[in-house]
Amino acid sequence: MPNLIDGKQLANTIKEEIAIDVNKLRENGGKIPHLAAVLVGEDAASQVYVRNKVRSCEQVGFESTLIRKDSSTTEEELLEIVEELNNDPDIDGFIVQLPLPKHINEEKVTLAINPKKDVDGFHPANFGRMAQGLPAYLPATPFGIMQMLDRYNIEVEGKECVVLGRSNIVGTPISILLSRKARPGNATVSLCHSRTKDLKAHTLRADIIIAAIGIPEFVKGDMVKDGVVIIDVGINRVDDATAKRGYRLKGDVAFDEVAPKASFITPVPGGVGPMTVTSLLMNTLKACKGEIYGH
Ligand code: NAD
Repeated sequence: MPNLIDGKQLANTIKEEIAIDVNKLRENGGKIPHLAAVLVGEDAASQVYVRNKVRSCEQVGFESTLIRKDSSTTEEELLEIVEELNNDPDIDGFIVQLPLPKHINEEKVTLAINPKKDVDGFHPANFGRMAQGLPAYLPATPFGIMQMLDRYNIEVEGKECVVLGRSNIVGTPISILLSRKARPGNATVSLCHSRTKDLKAHTLRADIIIAAIGIPEFVKGDMVKDGVVIIDVGINRVDDATAKRGYRLKGDVAFDEVAPKASFITPVPGGVGPMTVTSLLMNTLKACKGEIYGH
């Protein structure tokens, strides 16, 4: 059987390390990292995500501020909040939880965030710096995946990596990070998407597959080779009357079929998901210490 990459356990280990760092800052009279989160509207999943982020801040000893606004908030009002957070010296980093209500232009809001405080790593300035190998806030999910590969000592250099999905928040940035001249990195990366011809030909020769397409159990057992490393980013709700909530979370990979062939695999839930929040904490700590842009 494969080695399970336990994202929950790894996230807890990293949180303990961050908590130790925060204690040191406190003992030395330094500034305590302060993350703000802006939540607009009542999207159920977003409420859960933001609650998790705030709770995680508490766990590691960060300060946190939650700004909740109802769905009638105008774009102008939100941009004012962003500007206030940009200028508030006590806030080291902040996030505006996506998706935003339809009448608000997400791109405009993302661009309004000062890149120095963009701990989600969504601003094009951070994306561009990442692509050029300069210090940058890395987007949370790809950063979490890189941590997993690194801490589980999974060899990436020279490997054939196939990324499924080209979103701005997962597929495209992870394909850049894996191919950079860095450690982990130096992989040969194929970025596959909805227009890819003969996807199976790609997945069959992959040493490492990063699946981020949002289709439950898309990657089947006959699409992978023996010894493959599987990072399953997908979080899909699948109806299940026998489950307490009426649904179950499934990844983009058919776990039961693929796991017996894999050398390493992430479960869903409990894989990439918990690492995403941890990355946000790591970025906020870097922001507080001025590690990316100075003070
Ligand atoms: P998205 O929904 O924005 O885009 C999906 C991508 O998959 C597109 O680039 C598309 O080209 C590709 N695609 C769709 N159908 C395909 C097919 N048949 N063959 C090949 N490629 C295909 O992607 P996203 O926002 O990156 O989300 C992907 C999944 O990851 C979702 O299930 C999402 O919930 C999950 N996700 C999880 C985390 C986490 O923390 N674990 C974070 C972000 C997203």
